[in-house]
Amino acid sequence: MRTVDIALGITRTRRARLLVALIATGTFLATPVSEADSATVVAARPEIGAADRQVPVVVEPTLLERRVLGRSVEGRDIEAFRYGTKGGTPIMVIGVIHGDEDAGLLITDVLRTMTPPTGIDLWVIPTVNPDGTVADTRGNANRVDLNRNFPRGWVPQGEPGYWQYAGPSAGSEPETKAVMKFVREVKPALGIWYHQDLNMISPGSGFEGRIRARYAKLTELPLVRITGGRYTGVAATWQRNAVPQGLGFVVELGPTLTSSQARMHAEAVMVVARMVHGSRA
Ligand SMILES: [Zn+2]
Repeated sequence: MRTVDIALGITRTRRARLLVALIATGTFLATPVSEADSATVVAARPEIGAADRQVPVVVEPTLLERRVLGRSVEGRDIEAFRYGTKGGTPIMVIGVIHGDEDAGLLITDVLRTMTPPTGIDLWVIPTVNPDGTVADTRGNANRVDLNRNFPRGWVPQGEPGYWQYAGPSAGSEPETKAVMKFVREVKPALGIWYHQDLNMISPGSGFEGRIRARYAKLTELPLVRITGGRYTGVAATWQRNAVPQGLGFVVELGPTLTSSQARMHAEAVMVVARMVHGSRA
């Protein structure tokens, strides 16, 4: 049964506008995506004071922590929301790094209504690029492509205005620094990074390859290698190399994402999280 589902059919652009409105008013919305037929689904986020609303209460996932990882160039909070088992296998999900590729927000919205499997310490980070998310731009407010700014294989690329401008130096941006500090502290066993809109997942090798293949199968995304392009200073590559045995991969969503696809992705996150947890037990 579908209850409130205002996210249904929302496109990237509409979603971005919605987020702008939410940031502007300083409030987060009640239940953008919610289906009452799953025991793990919650009708409202725990922090929004649902008491004075008419909300069908299901099961609320406990928000263990809201952490501000740092601030953007324009001073916006980079927020992380923690659910599941404190001290369990840390899993990190990043909805947005390229501000104009924000379909991942629909997935992080769903994740925030789900109780992770036991043993998973889940960190949901809707956007590491809040300025770009608000402005609907790829880069941050310095026009730096944050996914070329990480200090692994960093090379200078272009200048402000170039779409893949890598910044003045490796790890120069406050958003990059905030993510680095967080990853070094939390040591995610797995990081999942959403992008658009190539509609694919790149295959990997070994255990990570199996994780990627499983995720691709569950979400019906083709598992194909990206050809062409020059990928330097990439966040996921830095992240998985910053942690011993760290895993990380990019999910390229399509141009739009339906709410049922968002749910498929959120459930795939939980499946691969369990695989990673199982491999460490
Ligand atoms: Zn991207």
